Amino acid sequence: MTETEIALNEYCKKDIAHCTYEELYTALLHIVEAESQKRLYAVKGRKLYYISAEFLIGKLLSNNLINLGLYDDVKACLEAHGKSMARLEEVEPEPSLGNGGLGRLAACFLDSIATLNLPGDGIGLRYHCGLFRQNFTENFQNETPDFWLGSHDWAEKTAKTYPVSLAGKPYTARLYRIAVTGYEGRTNYLNLFDLDTVEQSVIRDGIRFDKTDIGKNLTLFLYPDDSDDAGRLLRIYQQYLMVSAGAQLILEECLERGSNLHNLHEYAAIQINDTHPSMVIPELIRLLCEKDIAFEEAVEIVTKTCAYTNHTILAEALEKWPKHYLEQVVPQLVPIIEELDTLARSQGSDSSTAIIDSDNVVHMAHMDIHFTHSTNGVAALHTEILKNSELNHFYRLYPEKFNNKTNGITFRRWLLKCNPELAAFIESLIGPDFKKDASRLERLADFAEDEAVLKQLSAIKRNNKSALAKWLEHTQNITVNPDSLFAIQSKRLHEYKRQQLNLLYLVHQYFEIKAGHLPPAPLTAVFGAKAAPAYIIAKDIIHALLVLSKVIAADAEVSGWLQIAFIENYNVTAAEKMIPACDLSEQISLASKEASGTGNMKFMLNGALTLGTMDGANVEIAEAVGNDNIYIFGQSSSQVIRRYGNGSYIAREWYEIDPNIRRAVDFLTSEKMLACGSAEHLGRLQNELIHKDWFQTLPDFNAYVVRKNQALADYAGNPLDWAKRTLLNISKAGFFSSDRTIAEYNSDIWHLG
Ligand SMILES: *Cc1c(COP(=O)(O)O)cnc(C)c1O
Repeated sequence: MTETEIALNEYCKKDIAHCTYEELYTALLHIVEAESQKRLYAVKGRKLYYISAEFLIGKLLSNNLINLGLYDDVKACLEAHGKSMARLEEVEPEPSLGNGGLGRLAACFLDSIATLNLPGDGIGLRYHCGLFRQNFTENFQNETPDFWLGSHDWAEKTAKTYPVSLAGKPYTARLYRIAVTGYEGRTNYLNLFDLDTVEQSVIRDGIRFDKTDIGKNLTLFLYPDDSDDAGRLLRIYQQYLMVSAGAQLILEECLERGSNLHNLHEYAAIQINDTHPSMVIPELIRLLCEKDIAFEEAVEIVTKTCAYTNHTILAEALEKWPKHYLEQVVPQLVPIIEELDTLARSQGSDSSTAIIDSDNVVHMAHMDIHFTHSTNGVAALHTEILKNSELNHFYRLYPEKFNNKTNGITFRRWLLKCNPELAAFIESLIGPDFKKDASRLERLADFAEDEAVLKQLSAIKRNNKSALAKWLEHTQNITVNPDSLFAIQSKRLHEYKRQQLNLLYLVHQYFEIKAGHLPPAPLTAVFGAKAAPAYIIAKDIIHALLVLSKVIAADAEVSGWLQIAFIENYNVTAAEKMIPACDLSEQISLASKEASGTGNMKFMLNGALTLGTMDGANVEIAEAVGNDNIYIFGQSSSQVIRRYGNGSYIAREWYEIDPNIRRAVDFLTSEKMLACGSAEHLGRLQNELIHKDWFQTLPDFNAYVVRKNQALADYAGNPLDWAKRTLLNISKAGFFSSDRTIAEYNSDIWHLG
């Protein structure tokens, strides 16, 4: 008997074959916990705290088993007793603690930090219902609470609590912890705060709830609706709970380890992930002043300890709060923020870098840049745009603070876990080193002319496509043809990401096929995306795609060549099924708007070719693989920025001049679409495209059609060459490992240990 089998028998107290999957799952939870405890090491020197409103961690069981070196053993043991690992995985609910790329990045970072044996914990909130669970009814997105907490979740309730004052009233934050295992590395923690008084019963009617009773609702949802005052105040309450409890935890740990707080930065490095945790700056200053440190010194200590990551240039995400909101929620911070504003104004030459503007609005990102020692962008292009345009005033003030850290993904989850067949094949070709040193993937290029290797690569892709098809059939009742080209666009639904461009292409192809212009290969367009509940046009785009999928499916002339599969409730679990099955990765954001993207990296690593604009990390992917191995199209970021600058883009002109654009846009409100679609929603989307199109879909339409059809032709015309190009993509994916990103953060910003 193996050790695992003995341990399982011990926990279950009966033969494995007679255990339910729930029993096996619970036993493995304990085994993993015990194993990960063995890898807790004392911290010497500086420890990292990564504060983030989101951690999109995905299911943990298999990932932890892989990282602890137990996976193969457990799988074999289960199989020997007639149990399946896949079935076991279904017992675990996916933690609902995140929303999109920003949260997934935080999760990849925690994995890499532990893998590199660096001391570093996450700090966040324990949301009871996450963002929301998405389902489609009558071709519309419908939102319900995503209840995921329960006996099968991994968060351990601790006895640690911290007092937090919200609107002048005392509350008690309780610490929960999830162990984060590194691949052959140490164990760190994800610290999550919650109130004991939160009550899921205040939710009624979808995801609506009474926003005023914060004792009961504070941690119910991630990003609660902010379309009214109560909702916006609630977001500030949430953020303060996270940073106040987090700051107390940090100071407590540093004091325990011997800091006198004057030297806090020698014990702690704090990374502020986007603006949501920005109040940690004034909160730490407040706490240090309470311990009799002078204000000026406290500011200096905090500046040396904290660093800020900017994730976007979209104005909506650079949070700013009316000062009177802060006066209501966190009156204790307002005098500190005012003093910081005075200090900032004494630095800055003009009011554009002020923290509190002339309308009494507080700019959180401005506070971050002034009072941290590092501001980083998340891809080379993004950082350049920050320096040269968006944050240029700050860059001129503090050139030394600005730096780039191109995002990355953990290869454990996004290769070893999600694509075991490909991982094993790579290992058979180049050995196992790539799992910890991703740059070793380069050696795959030696096999670029090896026909047997290329054929095997295609066969693995075909298997993964079949597996996705089966999963779609089983979970969503969607049937797809695994011999078609799978083009996948999965990411949050946002106009800047331009799912609407893909939509217009699909309408265009529909017309072409009906006119007898058959494509070189059948195409399955796969989507996965949630729209923010209050984002009207995003929801209209989902509606249009769902309606179009029905129109096409009902048309026998077209359905053999074209299919749309929109996957419900896109999350990490779905991503793990979709990404290994992708042929063509759709990364079609408006150039300059996608800070980095990380989906693009996952697809590349799993042997998809990218169809993309020169945006975010696509630029670095294109550089790495060369133009022959990627499909680039569309306006450049500088063209786009110029068009915004001089206001020269008028959508209507493009619509009127180009018959293909007009035909596609007009179709949205055609009789066929209205037969199962809503005139209100489709009309609104059409109107938006003709009269506004803020994200410049129409100028890129023709180039997109040409490049995508080129990809279809290449795929159908020369499968071996296609496989070779996917191999070269995989071989160049090493740079996009989050191990590389974290090593850079550590050597440039954190200096841990
Ligand atoms: C990687 C990932 C994202 C981010 O995708 P982008 O294409 O970079 O926006 C969002 N959601 C999930 C579930 C992911 O795994």
